[in-house]
Amino acid sequence: KAGPLATVPDPRDPTLGGLLSPDFNDSSCLSRYRAVLYRRPSLHAISSHLISALRRYESLHRQCGPGTPAYARAVERLRAAPNASTTPPSSSSFDCSYLVWNPVEGLGNRILSITSGFLYALLTDRVLLLHSSGGDLDDLFCEPFPGSTWILPAGDKDDFPIRDMEQLGQGHHESLGAVLGRGEDPGGAASPWLYAHLVHNYDAQDRRFFCDDAQAALRRVPWLVFHSDNYFAPGLFLIPGEQHERELSRMFPRRDAVFHHLGRYLFHPSNTVWGMVTRYHEEYFAKADERVGIQVRTFGWAPISADELYGQILKCTQREGILPVPVPGEVVAANADDGRQPAKRKAVVVVSLHGEYSEKLREMYRKDNNGSTTTGGEAVSVYQPTHLGAQRSGEKEHNQQAFAEMVLLGFSDAVVTTAASTFGYVGQGLAGLRPWVLMSPVDEKAPDTPCRHAPTIEPCFHSPPNYDCRAKAEGDAGRMVRHIRHCEDYPQGVQLV
Ligand code: GDP
Repeated sequence: KAGPLATVPDPRDPTLGGLLSPDFNDSSCLSRYRAVLYRRPSLHAISSHLISALRRYESLHRQCGPGTPAYARAVERLRAAPNASTTPPSSSSFDCSYLVWNPVEGLGNRILSITSGFLYALLTDRVLLLHSSGGDLDDLFCEPFPGSTWILPAGDKDDFPIRDMEQLGQGHHESLGAVLGRGEDPGGAASPWLYAHLVHNYDAQDRRFFCDDAQAALRRVPWLVFHSDNYFAPGLFLIPGEQHERELSRMFPRRDAVFHHLGRYLFHPSNTVWGMVTRYHEEYFAKADERVGIQVRTFGWAPISADELYGQILKCTQREGILPVPVPGEVVAANADDGRQPAKRKAVVVVSLHGEYSEKLREMYRKDNNGSTTTGGEAVSVYQPTHLGAQRSGEKEHNQQAFAEMVLLGFSDAVVTTAASTFGYVGQGLAGLRPWVLMSPVDEKAPDTPCRHAPTIEPCFHSPPNYDCRAKAEGDAGRMVRHIRHCEDYPQGVQLV
């Protein structure tokens, strides 16, 4: 019977219109069904095909995940098999295959590479497992798949046979690029596992991951390990061939909400992180009529002084009507006791490693000790949860803080992000909003156009393959298929629109 192909979910539905499995019933993850009460309702339709693909994936993961006989068998075969000749024959009619993720770079990059890996796993019937090195994923996310775990077991007694995965890199003997470079067939069973190097420095051979012939060969490789610092999901839309194209277009009839849907499906804050999020929300956002999130990130490759960047933030937010221009003398306090009430209470949360931007903004909107000033009767209050100074992505608490702030950004009614920041991409994607993007500095100065309204809520794939599989030559990934364009915030990258 023909149902609607895609529907916008009912905002009160805790499963987000069927995106989330209804099968979780414990309190180990308070955020899973509660985040819906805090976020703006999604305006992005979810296809029934995506929903059924997710339910199918969940049952595959339950059948093949850690702790199952199928998993034990697959690990045993991996352990026993330096090469194909010693691989014990399969004792079951059904073999599971796996995709093993490894952490690279900061949490934003990690969330985006996990999401891209998950989309790849959905497309290729692999089971996604996360290799957490040094416990940096501990107490960060809830388990996304009912009745199973997505964490690769790494206990003493069942040590994973592929050792030192964090040291895999370009040119490794088992890397797809090296195998292709030697002219060998990646699916030729020389090894029960392969490594895909999908990091920004990948070479022409590694990039053939995004070609249909390499994909056909990889289907015969039971264990695929990858490293990536990128949102490579758009690259999967570049793989030529009917099979993937058709499946992707059925899952995502609108290509521009891939991370929005998969991100909200996968990343539920652990109870510890959810505690931080709800405390911040209560303190900053709960009483506001309008919530603005501003994410400020500085990069060594795009130097700009703090004053110059502050000026850019002001120019952007005031020019675009995100924040009011304060008028001297006009004082409307957020909590005035003279009986005057502001027309609108606006709460601004700045997230940044540095405190000075929010301090200056707060100062500007504070004319007396009463509260906030503004124009047009709007009262603006400015907050910042943390200013940690520097990135320390190996530390548990640091990552918990970062994730809590990304989730909080996702509760905004308007978001301002920094060009090329994956931290910002996660916030905008969870919010389901096209952000106002603070464009990168030019010669250490704010550009003339301080910010642009992004054309899509999708993250940018910073290092696309730029490889034409048919011609076996360089190509421009931004001109190959209809729904993929160069990114505005990072022109060498591409994104789904
Ligand atoms: P990107 O470098 O902007 O693409 O984002 P990533 O998330 O990959 O890496 C930056 C890392 O620095 C984050 O994961 C955090 O660990 C830290 N960081 C950067 N900005 C902030 C921030 O506003 N708040 C917090 N708590 N941490 C931040």
